[in-house]
Amino acid sequence: MSWYYAEGKDRRGPVEQSEWERLLQSGMIRPETLVWREGMETWAPYSTVAGAAIPAQGGAAPAMPALRPEFSTSEVQCAECGKTFPADEVVRIDGRAVCAGCKPIAMQRLKEGVALPGTMIYAGFWIRLGAKIIDIIIQQILSFGIGIAIGLMLGQATNETTASLLSSLVAFVVAIAYSTYFNGKFGATPGKMACKLRIVRPDGESITYLRALGRYFAEMLSGMILAIGYIMAAFDEEKRSLHDRICDTRVIRT
Ligand SMILES: [Zn+2]
Repeated sequence: MSWYYAEGKDRRGPVEQSEWERLLQSGMIRPETLVWREGMETWAPYSTVAGAAIPAQGGAAPAMPALRPEFSTSEVQCAECGKTFPADEVVRIDGRAVCAGCKPIAMQRLKEGVALPGTMIYAGFWIRLGAKIIDIIIQQILSFGIGIAIGLMLGQATNETTASLLSSLVAFVVAIAYSTYFNGKFGATPGKMACKLRIVRPDGESITYLRALGRYFAEMLSGMILAIGYIMAAFDEEKRSLHDRICDTRVIRT
């Protein structure tokens, strides 16, 4: 005579009498374990059938009925909300157990990939304009100071045209040096630092001096086309200006 029993959601058996007794001794079959053997109408807890005289008859075990929730031996913790659920009420998403309520969130997260949203907050047009105004003021003060110093050194030797050319050259050199040094070293000019902004690569890494220098010239291009290159930042989903696009950079809030 063969026994069948339920383990979790699986049907086990057939098991011969000798093996059955071994299972009983090992504690594998407990009073509440659902069992079936030939002659029984349906699955029932072992405690209700133990010792019952059941006539031996041929035939396969009937399909196991749906197990009651309390029968589920394993409780699984939802990876999203942390609550526990019977094993048959959770789904596997990307290897993590997730309850029915959290399934949409988990699916969404899977679609978005590993990068969590909100790790980089892109800085918008207006805050960047504010930073730019601060930088222009600082650069003009620097250029003015350096221009005065050069003028004093040259004394009366300069005419008006030379002085004008020199001041333009000084302003240009100051602007390049300012952008390259601060952006290359800190990822931000003093204006951007004051506005808590930083220039980064798409992966969040810092930019090099070389990229900072290249970005200065790309920014000149943004300014040349009626500042449209700057305004582009207002309409880009990653708030990229033209020079950000050219140099593959992003401006983020720190
Ligand atoms: Zn959940």
